[in-house]
Amino acid sequence: MAGHKNEKALNDILLSDKPKEECGVFGIYGRGLDVARLTYYGLYALQHRGQESAGIAVADGTGVQLQKGMGLVPEVFDAEKLEKFRGHIAIGHVRYSTTGSSLPINAQPLVFRYVQGMLGLAHNGNLTNVSELRNQLFSTGSVFQSTTDSEVVVNLIARYYQNSLEEAVMKCMIDLKGAYSLVIITEDKLMAVRDPYGIRPLCLGRLGEAWVVASESCALDIIGAELVRDVEPGEIIMIDENGLKSMQLLPQRRKAHCIFEYIYLARPDSIMEGFHVNKVRREMGRQLAREYPVEADLVIPVPDSGTAAARGYAEESGIPFEEGLMKNRYIGRTFIQPTQDMRDLGVRLKLNPVREVLAGKRVVMVDDSLVRGTTAARIVTMLRNCGVKEAHLCLSSPPITRSCYYGIDTSNESELIAARKQIEEIRQSINADGLHYLSVEGLLEIFGERRNDFCTACFSGDYPVEIPQKTFKMGLE
Ligand code: SF4
Repeated sequence: MAGHKNEKALNDILLSDKPKEECGVFGIYGRGLDVARLTYYGLYALQHRGQESAGIAVADGTGVQLQKGMGLVPEVFDAEKLEKFRGHIAIGHVRYSTTGSSLPINAQPLVFRYVQGMLGLAHNGNLTNVSELRNQLFSTGSVFQSTTDSEVVVNLIARYYQNSLEEAVMKCMIDLKGAYSLVIITEDKLMAVRDPYGIRPLCLGRLGEAWVVASESCALDIIGAELVRDVEPGEIIMIDENGLKSMQLLPQRRKAHCIFEYIYLARPDSIMEGFHVNKVRREMGRQLAREYPVEADLVIPVPDSGTAAARGYAEESGIPFEEGLMKNRYIGRTFIQPTQDMRDLGVRLKLNPVREVLAGKRVVMVDDSLVRGTTAARIVTMLRNCGVKEAHLCLSSPPITRSCYYGIDTSNESELIAARKQIEEIRQSINADGLHYLSVEGLLEIFGERRNDFCTACFSGDYPVEIPQKTFKMGLE
């Protein structure tokens, strides 16, 4: 645990002041394919969604094998381990978690034996009523090994099983509140389930005769599968030897896809709900330039998260785009962290300014978001030390003023800089010449007619699903 705390401290210094995704899921049903290896590659493409643990479960018609562990996908699996798997169905998971729950026991998939056989599950999202559900299950004799939401879901499914797995999953969905994209494996079936609002992403793909599901389409690309469509909010997909069956078991309410996937979380090469993430980010930059025109000599991104929006800003404004900050992409988990009094060194290890590009220039620096505002001031200082004449910071998200309860770690409200300070105060505290956030209106405009299909609760406080009364994140601590 101490090692983990060190890592968190290192992340705070080095790995950005960003919201953190809390999981990625993958599933495949394909006879004659090496499904374990394909799942490994799928998880590799989803690594940005979780770096703390990884796991794969494989079924061969008679049983479910599981391997999982703490660390990155290539740290948990090697060729020898993958070769031990036998079967034609697989699910996989990568996980990010908060400090308290970073335990091997919480790594997923979770696999259980119940009255009907074996059941494995991997979850992306966060249930807002998990404490209530866990207490109900406790009071009727259930026991839990982990602190994950997923174990509650597995318990409910097992409890509701009477006639069929689909029926049990449907009953379970009626009880669940919050965000969930699930992949479920049994000895002979693969299922994919998305919550009725479609908060967390989940898509369906095809690889020859095989079916694939994944949090993002970039995981389909890596194995050569084609994107078929997104799993619909409230949809249950079941794949077995008879093929694919889709059930819309809950009436669709309002859609509420997480808009932060487009701003920062998803990989830019993914397609979600028909929108190309990179294109959306570029459009955010264009919109920023329209909302906040600046007289400047250069537009630079904070790499890599601000790159697409910075290009959009440059295109719209006609100001030249330059790479003014170099990112070291090789800072890994084994890196010896700087001590507290070396915080500035920490930022420089991650990002270093290109003096020749920046000296004497008026610069618009584009990034996606500010959460706690811990690194922005250091970056502005670095720019000034390089002789930058003016430093304006433009952000392709609106101010984050509320916490997320649907599976994204945006920090507690008390830590969110925009919840505590006015924009002008933030500008002064980071010592920028200008600070501008994209407006919620401007952001939604990019999605045209589908502008109402998104959750924007971390900017607006308009939570699509009732949130827990207590301020801690349910199910994660
Ligand atoms: Fe996404 Fe924000 Fe909604 Fe959470 S509150 S699901 S981060 S848009």
